[in-house]
Amino acid sequence: MDKGLLIVLSGPSGVGKGTVCSVLRNKMPELIYSVSATTRLPRQGEVEGVNYFFKSKEQFQDMIARDALLEHAEYVGNYYGTPRDFVERTLASGKDVILEIEVQGALKVKQKFPDGIFVFLLPPSLDELKQRITGRGTESLDTINNRMSVAVEEMNLLRHYDYAVLNDEIDAACDRIRSIIIAEHCRRERFLPYVTGMKAAIEKA
Ligand code: 5GP
Repeated sequence: MDKGLLIVLSGPSGVGKGTVCSVLRNKMPELIYSVSATTRLPRQGEVEGVNYFFKSKEQFQDMIARDALLEHAEYVGNYYGTPRDFVERTLASGKDVILEIEVQGALKVKQKFPDGIFVFLLPPSLDELKQRITGRGTESLDTINNRMSVAVEEMNLLRHYDYAVLNDEIDAACDRIRSIIIAEHCRRERFLPYVTGMKAAIEKA
């Protein structure tokens, strides 16, 4: 069986990765979402095992020590990481997996999974980005300023990605990502075993 595709959706803080990812998952229920582990406290309405696996610092460090994370990164004072086992098992079962992670983690995933599909979500403008970071309304002024300067630095990392998607409108951005995934499934390399099998069957007949 063909392995599934690993899709890594990343981009600067506040660009709307979370929203785009959840709308995309509704449009593509066959896409399996990897739930991350984090040391950040749950926000209102967030559910353990659905939004994140919420961990203490000690538990998170233990996961790192056990090599249970595919990647991890520190982001504005908290740790975030992708549980390795789930991703590897799901890909092996032939299903596509999507990670919605910040840029440092995405670069680490690229080292381990160079065949992954790396999608960089871009804000339509810097003003819009600032508004989105502020508009979340749950963060302190310090955190907002911190996130804004991180976001500007993060924009430089676009060159490591396969695709850039402008998040001017959520549905349009999701359609672009869906098109990327469909096109990636049509890459000729994926069909070589199929064609080889067909040729062998013809020759045998
Ligand atoms: P938030 O605290 O707003 O849920 O997420 C903060 C940032 O952490 C977002 O940019 C999100 O994409 C990123 N993030 C979520 N899970 C992971 C993960 O497993 N690994 C990494 N590297 N970043 C993550």
